[in-house]
Amino acid sequence: MSQKPYQITALPGDYIGPEIMAAGLRVLRAVTADQNFDYTVTEYPFGGAGIDAAGDPLPKETLAAAKASDAVLLAAIGGPKWDGAARTPETGLLEIRKALNLFANIRPTAISPVMQRYSPIKNEDPVDFVIVRELTSGIYFGTPRERTADYALDTMRYTASEIERVARVAFEMANRRHQHVTLVDKANVLATSKFWREVVGRVATQYPAVTLDYSYVDAAAMKIIANPAQFDVILTENLFGDILSDEAAQITGSLGTIPSMSSGANGPALYEPIHGSAPDIAGQGIANPFSMIKSVAMMLTNSFDRRDLAATINAAVDQSIATHIVTPDLGGSATTEEVTNAVIQSIQESR
Ligand code: ATP
Ligand code: MG
Repeated sequence: MSQKPYQITALPGDYIGPEIMAAGLRVLRAVTADQNFDYTVTEYPFGGAGIDAAGDPLPKETLAAAKASDAVLLAAIGGPKWDGAARTPETGLLEIRKALNLFANIRPTAISPVMQRYSPIKNEDPVDFVIVRELTSGIYFGTPRERTADYALDTMRYTASEIERVARVAFEMANRRHQHVTLVDKANVLATSKFWREVVGRVATQYPAVTLDYSYVDAAAMKIIANPAQFDVILTENLFGDILSDEAAQITGSLGTIPSMSSGANGPALYEPIHGSAPDIAGQGIANPFSMIKSVAMMLTNSFDRRDLAATINAAVDQSIATHIVTPDLGGSATTEEVTNAVIQSIQESR
């Protein structure tokens, strides 16, 4: 019985992007060896590298490959080299999200026991939640948008179907986790928020095992600091999600360890670290590869249903942190390569 190999498109991008992508792909190779997981990875230029290679942050071949693949792995793009470019590396990111219809952005926030020492928060209960953020609508895209000398106007607009599809992502996620969704909004003020409550309430009836509660965004911002253990899945619209997910990243105390996923209804999902291309440390071999390695684990779980392989990776990362084989951003003195070697060795020893 032979299945067609999975196709993975890798977009290393810029500055530390290629350094951490190399680490992530080495770990993917190690964890899948003899595990009945057949795949090919092809790398394509994207972001600044796309501009350099093809004059376009999202070259046609890159987009075609991404569309035809089962999952897309992205490292990081952008940086000072392309500051004056007509189309910046970041426009490539907006375009690929749109082309792949990636309407749900998912960011885990977990403080595992070995990560506790990096967290500014003294939590007694384990912190482990995900934010599901609507990514392709809301005030970032609503029209009209105007600016005159005397006033400016942005429009927050949502349709029922835009809310329904991202709500379903959140409830499916809750079903696989701790059966709890918190809808974060500003329903005491905003019409769009009142509408979200109505539509999400309807979706909730299809998930009787999942508890749905609500939090105003200002209160949620406090709870993420004061009592983050109460959350399982936070569902929210685009602007609130942008702000809360950066806040949530801070309570883990480590930008360099957090992966993310953006997904649509059909077609490949895209996995990437939450941090940028870190031009300040590029080329030194000291970038923290955990965010990329964990993005690989997230891909194995969500695109390929290989929770077992993801668990092996995450345990190996925890092991590396526990034995303090970590890069300088986590207070260690190991290089990207040494950290990656340690992770791979612990994967091999676990077998
Ligand atoms: P972007 O706008 O692309 O998100 P940014 O301005 O938020 O970029 P990052 O590139 O995320 O900035 O970097 C912020 C800081 O965190 C920098 O000092 C960078 O060196 C550090 N940093 C980010 N990622 C890593 C990593 N993987 N390993 C070590 N340090 C990192
Ligand atoms: Mg940033």
